[in-house]
Amino acid sequence: MTNKIAIVTGAARGIGLATTKLFLADNWQVVMVDRDEQELQHAAAVLPGTLPFMCDVSIPASVTDLITTVLSTFGRIDALINNAGVAIFKPLEDMDFEAWRTVMATNLDGVFLCSMAALPALKVSHGCIVNIASISAVRASTLRVAYGTSKAAVVHLTKQLAVELGDYGVRVNCVSPGPVKTKLAEAVHSPEIIKAYYDGIPLHRSATELDIAETIFFLCSPKAAYVTGQMIAVDGGFDAAGIGLP
Ligand code: NAD
Repeated sequence: MTNKIAIVTGAARGIGLATTKLFLADNWQVVMVDRDEQELQHAAAVLPGTLPFMCDVSIPASVTDLITTVLSTFGRIDALINNAGVAIFKPLEDMDFEAWRTVMATNLDGVFLCSMAALPALKVSHGCIVNIASISAVRASTLRVAYGTSKAAVVHLTKQLAVELGDYGVRVNCVSPGPVKTKLAEAVHSPEIIKAYYDGIPLHRSATELDIAETIFFLCSPKAAYVTGQMIAVDGGFDAAGIGLP
């Protein structure tokens, strides 16, 4: 056992679940965090070495409970994976403030709250943070005013934290996935968007959850010991090709 402890938010399914499995395979212990209790318990039930914890990352008291429980259970945190995210795709004129806040609350506030709460423990362990942004952070297109803006903020928050935490040996990076076939993506991608992806992405496929998890795992490993403040796009060439989206 490495006795290393990772917290993965949004771990009940999708990219977070694949990330959990990869860390477990390397003998980490994983705190699986999600606000969907049923899906969380279902996923964790078949994964020994995990502690499932119900938490809404957008609620400060919920995040405080999480970190208090993790520290009283394990006494340390070595990696925080801020993966929980929501997507609301709407034309600009339909984007009301409530929808805007819903996106910002999880995608941006959640990253801030979890990072701040875990910080004292990460300073002690010289641990790391990996935030999950999106290729929508760097490529503006229709429907994504809240989602893209929240993810662009996550990229900058990553750099900000990396600069401020370098003195403590805490590394902070982010991963920007292109399209991954998960429940989140299925809910917002129209047939037109999916066709544009397949036509335009140089590798002509979506990422698998494992494609994204492998990069997250690398960033938490000693192989990335000199990598901080970076955004790595795992997008099949989406950004490089500059494809347009409907
Ligand atoms: P998903 O919907 O399959 O999983 C997200 C999980 O996060 C769910 O289990 C959900 O219950 C949980 N969650 C949402 N809000 C939460 C909150 N406030 N507190 C706690 N848990 C919460 O989505 P996914 O595709 O695996 O997305 C994971 C991350 O990857 C997200 O940040 C998403 O924005 C990002 N991303 C996904 C894609 C894609 O195409 N799927 C592309 C780029 C970026």
